[in-house]
Amino acid sequence: MSEWDALWINGHLATMAPGDAAYGTIEDGAIAVSDDRIAWVGRRADLPGEAAGLAREVHDLGGCWVTPGLIDCHTHLVWGGDRAREFELRLEGASYEELAKAGGGILSTVKATRETPAEALYEAAVPRLQSLMADGVTTVEVKSGYGLDAENEAKQLSVARRQGEAFPVDVVTTFLGAHALPPEFAGNTGGYIDEVVTSMLPQAHARGLVDMVDAFCETIAFSPEETARVFDKARELDLPVKLHADQLSDLNGAALAARYGALSAEHLEWTNDAGIQAMAVAGTVAVLLPGAFYQLRETKLPPIEGFRRAGVPIAIATDCNPGSAPVFSLLLMVNMACILFRLTPEEALAGVTRNAARALGRADRLGTLEAGKQADMAVWRIDRPADLAYRIGFNPLVSRVKSGHVTRVS
Ligand SMILES: [Zn+2]
Repeated sequence: MSEWDALWINGHLATMAPGDAAYGTIEDGAIAVSDDRIAWVGRRADLPGEAAGLAREVHDLGGCWVTPGLIDCHTHLVWGGDRAREFELRLEGASYEELAKAGGGILSTVKATRETPAEALYEAAVPRLQSLMADGVTTVEVKSGYGLDAENEAKQLSVARRQGEAFPVDVVTTFLGAHALPPEFAGNTGGYIDEVVTSMLPQAHARGLVDMVDAFCETIAFSPEETARVFDKARELDLPVKLHADQLSDLNGAALAARYGALSAEHLEWTNDAGIQAMAVAGTVAVLLPGAFYQLRETKLPPIEGFRRAGVPIAIATDCNPGSAPVFSLLLMVNMACILFRLTPEEALAGVTRNAARALGRADRLGTLEAGKQADMAVWRIDRPADLAYRIGFNPLVSRVKSGHVTRVS
């Protein structure tokens, strides 16, 4: 009787487990899977017998490296319409008024998302998800926030849920009703927040569509007080929170997120020292989004050194959205995190594995190659883990393993 369902040998493991070894490396390692879990991880020399007798299937890695399946912990993957024309107009020098007249900006995405039936939203989102999966992604967070009413927020979240059922990927859903002010509430943010907390969020939650709650706390979006009202409701519903904070200005968003024990705070370009300390104490992950920073040609860097010194875990994500980050590659974000934010390759890789799992509240089952965790892995034809950060626009993925099931890529 074989002990395990499958065993991978003759390769190297970047387990990303915390410890003394960089990347949690085990050279000439072996990793075994039973059902959907990792059953054993270690040096091949320490296997309790001959490989062939230990598992029903033995995979020869041929010298490849195995990492945890990558986790994209911040996306807005489901939307209607597109903003390529707006992008083109802006680069042709159109004025703000001309752009507004052409129907640009986030409200154009809201309009298109409302007008697009669920089935078409689903079809449009499939290639986006597949692009991320082709980079070794096995878990994706997807936010609402382009519906901005009860029916359309639920539509977006249902589409995200369906994607998780149809593809070998875990989809974690986030309610982001407080993303922007819908036109029917123009000049009445308080009234819209009333709608979010009394109707939209409770309804989406009652339908089982909400894993987490997010908000956009910014001068162009919602105030800290309005954000707190959304978080109070989330707390009442026993839902974890996260926050788009301090992206364009310092509103003490990081400290607000920490006060509510947020899993993560995102963007954080303008976060101050008190915010960093509060995040460290609360265990809130800093999710950095180099794609949006790049696309918006931002110059204000997030306080990376402050996060390091305070021991705030750093995660990296695509922020995949049609406006500020039309980004469909998490590997590219690993590179950009190193180049734009000066993360080390090891920090960047931890940002799309171990720390991204934590930003989703799933560190107990995702993000490292350790016995007992979900068997989500990516197999790469590389010489060392730093290759994943070093090369630009190069994808060395060989296969993807989701809950123990292998998808061969090349
Ligand atoms: Zn975002």
